[in-house]
Amino acid sequence: MANVLWLQGGACSGNTMSFLNAEEPTVVELVTDFGINILWHPSIGLELGDQVSTLLNDILKGKIQMDILVYEGSIVQGPKGSGTMNYFAERPMQDWVRELSQVAGFVVAIGDCATWGGIPAVPPNPSESTGMQFHKNKKGGFLGAGFVSKGGLPVINIPGCPAHPDWVTQILVAISTGRIKDVLVDEYHRPKTFFTDFVQTGCPNAISFAQKVDGGFGKRGGCLFYEVGCRGPMTRASCNRILWNRQASKTRANHPCLGCTEPGFPHHDLVKGSVFKTMKYLGFLPQNVPTGVSRMGYYTRAGVEKVMGTVERVLGVEQEHFETSK
Ligand code: SF4
Ligand code: SF4
Repeated sequence: MANVLWLQGGACSGNTMSFLNAEEPTVVELVTDFGINILWHPSIGLELGDQVSTLLNDILKGKIQMDILVYEGSIVQGPKGSGTMNYFAERPMQDWVRELSQVAGFVVAIGDCATWGGIPAVPPNPSESTGMQFHKNKKGGFLGAGFVSKGGLPVINIPGCPAHPDWVTQILVAISTGRIKDVLVDEYHRPKTFFTDFVQTGCPNAISFAQKVDGGFGKRGGCLFYEVGCRGPMTRASCNRILWNRQASKTRANHPCLGCTEPGFPHHDLVKGSVFKTMKYLGFLPQNVPTGVSRMGYYTRAGVEKVMGTVERVLGVEQEHFETSK
């Protein structure tokens, strides 16, 4: 059994929408079968106005136990650190979050804005947004690098734009059933079970990636890495293993992965020409190479594969898998 309070700061509600679409289990099953009691949620909570402030104050006074504080959206600190750009229940939201984090059993940040600031934190960052315990890839954020909740863990980060519903529901269930300490996290506090493999794992274009065959936005066949900025080889997430809506993923629909589960998102801070386009070095080499591979090693191997592929095509030696996937 776990009492959950869900708050939203600088958010678009995308993670709430994702959560409400959960299927295995659904949000209703979380409540009926998995011991989750939702104290309040901005979209499904029944309390309004003063009733919400009373609830939050009762939690702070210890009258109501809060086992999990879920936070969605960036922490808005502007202007000048006051947080008054994001007022909630008669106070800056940042004040509620600071105090509620101290009494929560566990704190879970959902989505990129809550984990590392996300799009609101892109310079010039007029709302002075940051993440709960990271700012981009630097540990610290709003609660500070040393923060540990009453349950003995730092903020558990479930990134994504939005986070996959399974990532959220499974972590809530792990906490409510007392198994959260069995869940290993990586250096960015992401549960390893979802964020160890790369998006490329399970992508049907992986053979084209290896053979350096270019694809295009929405076009079947070929890989999206070389021209349209796919970040599948450097983004840790299970999108091509558990799929979205149990159906597909971005790269299965031949849409490039934007790298939304990595702390650098949005990569290149959205500078013109960096979205849906592979940033190039010397005009033709991808600036970002797959994680774990040296730039020189990658360029050498990629160059050989590209030349071999071109020679084969000129000589009429077609790659069967590519032809049949067109
Ligand atoms: S489309 Fe993206 S994820 Fe798929 S093989 Fe190419 S780079 Fe990897
Ligand atoms: S495919 Fe990439 S951009 Fe899309 S949800 Fe997964 S990690 Fe995020």
